[in-house]
Amino acid sequence: MILRSRFKAAKPLQALRRTYKVLAIESSCDDSCVALLDRFLSSEPPRIIDEARMTLNSALTGGVIPTAAHEFHQKTIAQLINGFLAKNGLGRSTPPDLICCTRGPGMVGSLSASLQLAKGLAVAWERPLVGVHHMLGHVLTANLPKKAQPDLGPPKYPFLSLLCSGGHTMLVLLSSLTEHEIVIDTCDIAAGDSLDKCARELGFLGNMLGKELERYVASIPEQVRADFASIRTHTRDNEFGLKLVLPLRSPKHEKVPAKMEFAFASFLSTIQEYKQKHFSEQPMDERTRMFLAYKVQELLFDHIVNRINVSALKDGTDRTALEAAGGKFSEVRDFICSGGVASNSVLREKLLKDLLSFNNSLKFHFPDLRLCTDNAVMIGVAGIEIFESLRVKSDLSILPIRRWPMSEVLLVGGYERVSEEEFKRICR
Ligand code: AMP
Ligand code: ZN
Repeated sequence: MILRSRFKAAKPLQALRRTYKVLAIESSCDDSCVALLDRFLSSEPPRIIDEARMTLNSALTGGVIPTAAHEFHQKTIAQLINGFLAKNGLGRSTPPDLICCTRGPGMVGSLSASLQLAKGLAVAWERPLVGVHHMLGHVLTANLPKKAQPDLGPPKYPFLSLLCSGGHTMLVLLSSLTEHEIVIDTCDIAAGDSLDKCARELGFLGNMLGKELERYVASIPEQVRADFASIRTHTRDNEFGLKLVLPLRSPKHEKVPAKMEFAFASFLSTIQEYKQKHFSEQPMDERTRMFLAYKVQELLFDHIVNRINVSALKDGTDRTALEAAGGKFSEVRDFICSGGVASNSVLREKLLKDLLSFNNSLKFHFPDLRLCTDNAVMIGVAGIEIFESLRVKSDLSILPIRRWPMSEVLLVGGYERVSEEEFKRICR
């Protein structure tokens, strides 16, 4: 269901010259990030002038601890921004024109560290503040130029976005900047969380273990990977005695369920049980470790592709289905893959190759790898869209929002209309 708000996107203006600078801040999880964007021309994506980040090291704690992240941001964000402003010649007499900051969803402590600072800067510099939905930021990175796809412009509404990160995994249908329908959500944990925890079970240490897992699997000799690919794990009847199956596909599940969901927790429980059964007393041999890493990554991504295919069959991608079954994807031509996990090349290849229900009618958008994981650039890009298209800003009473469905971006309150005079002053 799409919920509507009282704020509507204004009709796109002709290419207008814009010369305003945007400071963007993001700290929803374990990264303190800041970016400076130049809004140069309304017909062009904003230009990135500079960005900086610091990341909490969670290698020893086996995951991000919210209180540690809160403390980390409180220590780092002011220093990080102070140095960043000085480096870019910004300050009391030369402030940026617009301030954008993540408002949610995320860890409340982490969010509040930068939101408070952003409010302070907005008051001190008398500049408007836009509190941004983190996931909208991930989606709108697709509006920026992509190194690997230089000829691909921004996606056109309606489009689909697979948001695949450490905290969220969902397929969203966007009909406009503010009309979003969550088509598939996860019923347990996010894909990135599952990959990180599986990798930890396999002995990897550090942050961003999904990335480490990808590197490790890519380093397995090609012939060995080909052998692994031919070994089926739908029963334990294989040389490793491993049963690992696609979630939600057993006979007890409906082939086409009424509610479409992803499920990633079973990958972790399978690996934990397998380790306990086969290697509780001794270290795992390298070939088994390779096999488990390979199969987890393959099947987890196969599950994502499979659920999207089933969803497309259910909701219809063509005109006939439009009449027969709603056909909600019939006008969709663009597919965006964003979030940290979406930078994985195996997932990208599978989406390109295996999304068969769409009959090769999709243009895929793969944002640059550095913009896939959390960053402040995406918050600036989304903040500019909100400010210019909806002509709204946030009031100074806004609080961090821990859980904030994407379908309710504008329904949370705390928005104020931007006056014509203020809009003209900034978008001069
Ligand atoms: P985000 O929450 O968007 O900042 O993304 C962080 C998540 O993405 C973590 O769970 C990482 O392990 C995961 N991630 C980052 N790079 C990759 C990759 N190349 N393959 C799989 N997962 C990744
Ligand atoms: Zn994120």
